[in-house]
Amino acid sequence: MFHTHNLLMYLIGIFVLLLLWQFYKKQIAAGRILEVDIFDRSGVRMYVYATPNDEQTCKTCSAVNGRVFLPTLITKSDFTPLEVSCMKPTPCTGAPVGLYGAWLEARSVLDRLKSSRKQGHIQLSAQEFREVIDGPWDRSVGAETDRLSMYMLSAMAYENSKHDVAIGNYGYVIEHAKAIQHLKLLVPAFLRLTQLLVRGERWAEALKLIEQFEAQFPSFESGVYFPSSAQRELMRITKTHAFKNQVMKLSA
Ligand SMILES: [Zn+2]
Repeated sequence: MFHTHNLLMYLIGIFVLLLLWQFYKKQIAAGRILEVDIFDRSGVRMYVYATPNDEQTCKTCSAVNGRVFLPTLITKSDFTPLEVSCMKPTPCTGAPVGLYGAWLEARSVLDRLKSSRKQGHIQLSAQEFREVIDGPWDRSVGAETDRLSMYMLSAMAYENSKHDVAIGNYGYVIEHAKAIQHLKLLVPAFLRLTQLLVRGERWAEALKLIEQFEAQFPSFESGVYFPSSAQRELMRITKTHAFKNQVMKLSA
C-alpha cells in the first residue's frame, strides 16, 4: 500500500515536470521568454550574420555576409542586419549565427567588435570571414558550444564548392538544433538544404525533407522561430516541383 502510494507520487511529479517543460517550450516559441534572459547561459559572445554564397542571393543580402554583431543588438525586437530591404519577393535566406569564439581568428574579431562598442557591429571582408570559418575552432575551449554554429557557417560558405559537406552540415543543424540560441538556424537550414537537394536533382530526399519541415512547423501554429508565409509558400512550390520530377524519374 505504502509503495503504491510512493509510486503514484513519483508519477504525478514526473507528469507535472513534463507539463512545465511543454509550457516553457511554448512560451519560448511564442517569444514570451526573451532570448536575452538566456544569453548569459548560452555562451554566445557575438553573432555573425551569414548569407549563402550563390547567385540567387541579392546584392543587399550578400553585402552583409560576415557582418558581426554584439548580442545586445540582436535581441532588439526590430533588429535587422540589412541597411536597405532585401530586393527579392521571397527574401533571401540569411541567419545570425551565435559564437563563443575562443580560437585565435574569432578572438581577434571579438576584440574588434568590442572596441566598436558604440556602433555594435563590424563588417568582415570575405577573406577575413573565411579565415574565421577555416580556423581551428574544434580545438578551442568553446568547441562544443560552437559546433552547431560552425557547421551552419561552413555550410553557407561552401554551398557551391563543397556540395556534400554543405548538405551534411545542414542535416546536422536540423537534427541537433534544440537549444534556444540555435532555433533561429532551423528554418534557414531547412530552406537551404532543400534548395541544395533540388539543385542536385535529389528529388526523393528533397520531398522527405519538406515533409519533415511541414511536420515540424505545422501551418496552424506560429512562433518567433517559425517560417514566414513567403517561406512556407516557397517550400510548397518546391514540393510540387520535386514531386513532379520524382514521378517523371520513376516513370522514365
Ligand atoms: Zn536579399
